[in-house]
Amino acid sequence: MAATGLWDDEYDVVVAGSGAGAMTGALAAASHGLRTVVLEKTSLLGGTSAYAGAAVWLPGTRVQERAGIGDSTESARAYLRALLGEDADGRREAFLATAPEVAEFLERDPAIEFEWRPFPDYYAAQGRMDAGRSFVPLDLPAERLGELASLVRPPVDRDRSGRGHAAGALAQGRALIGRLLLALTNTGNATVRTGVRFRRLVVEDGRVTGVEVETADGPARIRAARGVLLAAGGFEGNGGMRAEHGVPGAAEWSMGPAGANTGDPLLAAVAAGAATDLMDQAWWCPGVEDENGRGCFTLGFRGGLVVDSTGRRFANESLPYDRMGREMAAAPERVPAYVVFDSRHADVLPAISIPSLPRSAWVEADTLDELAEKLGLPADALAATVERFNDFARDGVDADFHRGEDPYDLFFADRSEGAGPNPCLVPVDRPPYYAARLVLSDLGTKGGLRTDTEGRVLDDTGRPIAGLYAAGNTSASFSGRVYPGPGVPIGSAMVFAYRAAQDMAG
Ligand code: FAD
Repeated sequence: MAATGLWDDEYDVVVAGSGAGAMTGALAAASHGLRTVVLEKTSLLGGTSAYAGAAVWLPGTRVQERAGIGDSTESARAYLRALLGEDADGRREAFLATAPEVAEFLERDPAIEFEWRPFPDYYAAQGRMDAGRSFVPLDLPAERLGELASLVRPPVDRDRSGRGHAAGALAQGRALIGRLLLALTNTGNATVRTGVRFRRLVVEDGRVTGVEVETADGPARIRAARGVLLAAGGFEGNGGMRAEHGVPGAAEWSMGPAGANTGDPLLAAVAAGAATDLMDQAWWCPGVEDENGRGCFTLGFRGGLVVDSTGRRFANESLPYDRMGREMAAAPERVPAYVVFDSRHADVLPAISIPSLPRSAWVEADTLDELAEKLGLPADALAATVERFNDFARDGVDADFHRGEDPYDLFFADRSEGAGPNPCLVPVDRPPYYAARLVLSDLGTKGGLRTDTEGRVLDDTGRPIAGLYAAGNTSASFSGRVYPGPGVPIGSAMVFAYRAAQDMAG
């Protein structure tokens, strides 16, 4: 915090971060004619949002209506109520009420187009859409972005190995960030600056009036006449903060871009009096571990089984990834766990891993005993687990964890000819055997600044701090300790950033 003084630059709205929430908030502000600047600390735009599949969980919009899938605000309300109980602070209702407006606002822009894709909601509860209600951006031909395309963070596999974009269209999260960037640029009211790190808030007479940043040319102060939106990710990449707040998992297993989401914007807001909530929470997932000790987001198991260090299964492997992550976090012997499979899957892991796990990271053995020895697992227990699992596969019923009974499980199953009575239960009986180490990864932390229905950051007494807004993983999620369905992180980031922009536009 600093007292007033000369400003190096002046805007109406300052946005820290450049993920989907930040870019949506910036676009909404700029569309109101507000002079807006996006500040991104790395050299690339999009953060984890650019890595995402970019499923967007915005219920009851024209996109689902076009697809004729029967989604509605009412059914989403019932679903969220079944999962989360009553709406304690109005944010859920604000989210539901605004979701259709956000989709309409974005699709009004010629740069932005979405389409519904099947991806089931994550819980069997009233109001669930078995085929899912989230939608995705259409791929974006790189030529439409021109030189700006190289500013968008590449997919995680290429980014981790420093390879930049492949030739061809931008897809998924890259398409979403690219489309938002195109729309933002076309407003004529926005400036996007990379390599500019937000450090501190400037507070005058109890109101946030600007920010202090670090640039390649040294520190600078930027005035924000209407407000500052912090949408700069969580603190998943900060091992110290994770330990302090007891977030299961580890910074090196997390999916955030290296060095990006370290929680400094959140700490700056706390220094200005902001309250926090849900600080031990993340959007979890299992992650097969690569040879560099990094987690690779793993979902959609279509074979094999998962055992803990006692050699036993502990969950339905086909659970939605956050639920499987929470199962892993529930007991220390479950991290690391091991995916065990056989030569049916000799060419490719029987699950989706992002990035895909190189075969060199697999452990291979001719017998289950040898595999157990190589993994340091009790051989008898592993053999008994596999035998019991193979019995389940033969009968088609997982009497222990009910794998294959939920539409989500079946969504990823291999239902091709020859699949057994339950396509989610594939026997593990054809040597050689294989295993991969499974760690507790996450897509970002989901605890952070307490906010109200307008995305305004609250202090310890529950009062908004004037001029300060937060969205995405910088804020505590309205979905609490639950990940309701594909696209809730990005969908909610977009809604509350949009509402923040509306509030700033007055
Ligand atoms: P980010 O998108 O990570 O953006 C934060 C940005 O802020 C970063 O660019 C960072 O560099 C920048 N920043 C940090 N500190 C500062 C600072 N001090 N100053 C300036 N800039 C700063 N979610 C979905 O909803 N749907 C999906 O389909 C989906 N798929 C996923 C697939 C993968 C492989 C992964 C890894 C995640 C997926 N997620 C998905 C999760 C989702 O991507 C994230 O939870 C979400 O994008 C986080 O958004 P954010 O804006 O909070 O942070």
